[in-house]
Amino acid sequence: MTKENANPSENPRFPECCDPPALLSLSGRKGLVVGVANQHSLAWSAALHFAQAGAELALTYVSETTRPHVAGLAERVKAPIFMPCDVAAPGELEAVFDTITKRWGRLDFLLHAVGSIPPRDLRGRLVDCSAEGFAQGMLVSTYSLIRMAHLAEPLMPQGGSLITLSYLGAERVVDHYNVMGPVKAALEASMRYLAHELGPQGIRVNAISAGPVQTRAASGLTGFSGFLDNAAKTAPLRRNIEADEVGRAALLLASDFTAATTGEILHVDAGVHIEAPAPAPPPRSSKSGNTQK
Ligand code: NAD
Repeated sequence: MTKENANPSENPRFPECCDPPALLSLSGRKGLVVGVANQHSLAWSAALHFAQAGAELALTYVSETTRPHVAGLAERVKAPIFMPCDVAAPGELEAVFDTITKRWGRLDFLLHAVGSIPPRDLRGRLVDCSAEGFAQGMLVSTYSLIRMAHLAEPLMPQGGSLITLSYLGAERVVDHYNVMGPVKAALEASMRYLAHELGPQGIRVNAISAGPVQTRAASGLTGFSGFLDNAAKTAPLRRNIEADEVGRAALLLASDFTAATTGEILHVDAGVHIEAPAPAPPPRSSKSGNTQK
């Protein structure tokens, strides 16, 4: 039986009485964050929360062009591991895990915040998507989570937490989300299968379904301001979300606060996902108030 599976009252990772600060602490934990492009990235908000909760972090950057935008952020969270990682480049993900193995010998959590589709396919209709664009989108945005889970498993003998980022377009048709919708649907299904397979080892796998936030990836979507306007109008909370709120949710899922939560999609979208389209307005009534014939 793993520590995560042990009776909570006998497990030192679970204080007997509710102690929120202790349950949210990541003190002594080691985490990998993949997907920081700049200070607007959802992954950066999460990294800040992880670091403030006491975790030691490994951060990656996708290319030499991105490196300068991420280097200062890695310094801010005092990340002892800062490496290139293009998940589509053979060997780069493996090199990151090799370094983690040599330096830490274990991993407690990881955040997968990676999404990309070739622009031509992202901006066109799904029905026109190329095989190459579809395959590339699946490789980078979805298969990378599966590969990370494969590489993380042997580093998590005491259990751990894997977190990925998704969007409502996986569950429903959202105009202009196009091929990213099916790709995110595959990501969410993969998350559930990984949760099923890795659960016996105490490894939890969850997704955050975030509302729209202006980031670099988001600016690749046609009419992104429409996503923001629409979400703010239809959300029960009548507002858009902040990147920081995604970061807080990521901390929750990385920590023991959610020790019994796996295979879950945590919506951080001000409630948009519960809303059905507004009904059409009632027909105008005639003078007599009776419109029926
Ligand atoms: P972002 O541009 O800051 O982050 C996307 C990251 O993906 C970047 O760091 C980029 O370098 C990385 N990436 C792209 N191709 C890669 C590759 N081949 N190898 C490694 N990394 C690669 O934008 P973001 O909005 O913070 O996106 C993070 C995640 O959140 C994505 O999965 C996105 O789909 C998801 N998401 C975003 C929103 C939103 O509105 N911003 C909403 C819901 C979900």
